[in-house]
Amino acid sequence: MRQAILALGHQILKESCKDLSPELQQPEQLITDMWETMQAADGCGLAAPQIGQPIKLFIVDSQSIYENLDETGRATYFSKGDTGIKETFINAKIINYSEQYWEDEEGCLSIPKLFQPVSRPWQITIDYYNANLEHQVRTFSGTTARIIQHEYDHTRGVLYIDHLKPLTKKIIASKLKKIKKGRVSTSYPIKYQSNNKL
Ligand SMILES: [Zn+2]
Repeated sequence: MRQAILALGHQILKESCKDLSPELQQPEQLITDMWETMQAADGCGLAAPQIGQPIKLFIVDSQSIYENLDETGRATYFSKGDTGIKETFINAKIINYSEQYWEDEEGCLSIPKLFQPVSRPWQITIDYYNANLEHQVRTFSGTTARIIQHEYDHTRGVLYIDHLKPLTKKIIASKLKKIKKGRVSTSYPIKYQSNNKL
């Protein structure tokens, strides 16, 4: 079932999430809900806290991005042989970051209509469980690695705007205020925090 996405201002987006314990929680429904919610919102990634579940679980779809790029775009944003992923990450931990960084614009379904350049490592290695609860250790790069890092941050209570330079933060402060107050319209269901202290 599609869920509403929590907007910037909700406390849960700032919290460090808990591990999912498969013996206690059945993640299937949550995973299904997350894919439906993300696809309906035209997103390329979504983390469980964004739909109100403070659990270390996120999904990434870089395959749709790959499919919509021309050859030049694919060569810029993806490593050779990488055609993107549609993957679920449970209890993930990034265990290695490349020294090479690159900048690209990011957005977030919880921060509608704002896009800002963020610098991140080009390649990462991540330890996680997939949707079938199989243990994985895989290395990703380019846009795939960028989305993974963005979603992984969500499970630690970090948003991409937290990575911006102080001056940029000042420039976008009024836009963020508008979002927190719910003065932005979206094509997908979103929950704004009421009674927000600004
Ligand atoms: Zn996000």
